[in-house]
Amino acid sequence: MNGVTELRRLIDENNEKLLDLLSERGALVSHMRNLKEKKGEDLFDPRREHEMLERLIKANQGPFPDEVIRSLFKEVFKASLGLMSRKTIESLRVYRSPGAKDKVIDVSGVTLGRYPQYIAGPCSVEGLDELDAVAAGLSRQGVRLLRGGAYKPRTSPYSFQGMGEEGLRILEEVATRHGMVSVTEVLDTRSAELVAAHAGILQIGTRNMSNFELLKEVGRIGKPVLLKRGFMATLDEFLNAAEYIMAAGNNDIILCERGIRTFVKSTRNTLDISAVPLLKKNTYLPVIVDVSHAVGRKDLLEPLAAAAFAAGADGVMIEVHHDPLVAKSDAEQQLTVNEFAALAESVRRIIPGAAPAPVKRMEDVKCV
Ligand code: PEP
Ligand code: MN
Repeated sequence: MNGVTELRRLIDENNEKLLDLLSERGALVSHMRNLKEKKGEDLFDPRREHEMLERLIKANQGPFPDEVIRSLFKEVFKASLGLMSRKTIESLRVYRSPGAKDKVIDVSGVTLGRYPQYIAGPCSVEGLDELDAVAAGLSRQGVRLLRGGAYKPRTSPYSFQGMGEEGLRILEEVATRHGMVSVTEVLDTRSAELVAAHAGILQIGTRNMSNFELLKEVGRIGKPVLLKRGFMATLDEFLNAAEYIMAAGNNDIILCERGIRTFVKSTRNTLDISAVPLLKKNTYLPVIVDVSHAVGRKDLLEPLAAAAFAAGADGVMIEVHHDPLVAKSDAEQQLTVNEFAALAESVRRIIPGAAPAPVKRMEDVKCV
């Protein structure tokens, strides 16, 4: 055997030894992370890193100069810190583990995740009779989830801010009367308990997806949460927001894609339809699409609702108002009940069985 071949064999052996040692170091560091997490200690200790480098420089006998040893080991430390501090997305609780079944959320007998649903209703609760008219019409269309904001996150502080507690009471009364489950937004930690006392499902709006204290609070309260994706959030950030709720003890989470901000000007936001199959693939939670806030206009809702169901969404949220022209918020994107009924019918034609059919009631059945 010639010298070069033999040296190459020895170098290969050496590489493998180095790799084994690095892997061993990685395992020790992961062990350290678990211990530190249990004790609530900081994962990164700059003094310790400094000491380790000093010790290595002292021990260095060449042939590599000290600066090379320093930068090589800094890379090793950096990689180890990556193992220490960052839980990978795949290790999150929201992440789908192999063979995990899809989660079905049951709120008073109304399920999300079993078959497609609509979540419909006005942008804001504006009055008892007004909401009742919408809920009556929607429930005749087979809609079981009634939305309506009582606390509204508005871009301008001078715009209608919602009816507050009175709006919550109206929503609860109307939903109960029509056998529907209410969905309404929780704006802050102060009012979270109050909203939870009246609502079936707590909505976290797009602007609050990164309000970590609020996420922890709705996690603690334990009622089902409809979590909207932040309009500037990546899917990893979205999953981490859901993780906050789960880590606080609440697994009943519905993920909602509602459009993200892009350079497109013709729609209010850009619906990221690929988020639907991605979220379905990577999590086991129900996924819905809010088409109204995604586009902010009425004429695109029907194809997008069909697209959402075709992409595998468990539900579609649509704003429906008793008289959209005079709506106190989002007037331009809300449908009338009749427009909603027409939309649902064409979506059913495009994707048979996509969403509930109108309910046949005694008064609708003609006697012959
Ligand atoms: C809403 O659904 O009422 C709402 C304000 O939506 P978003 O948070 O998605 O803007
Ligand atoms: Mn709205």
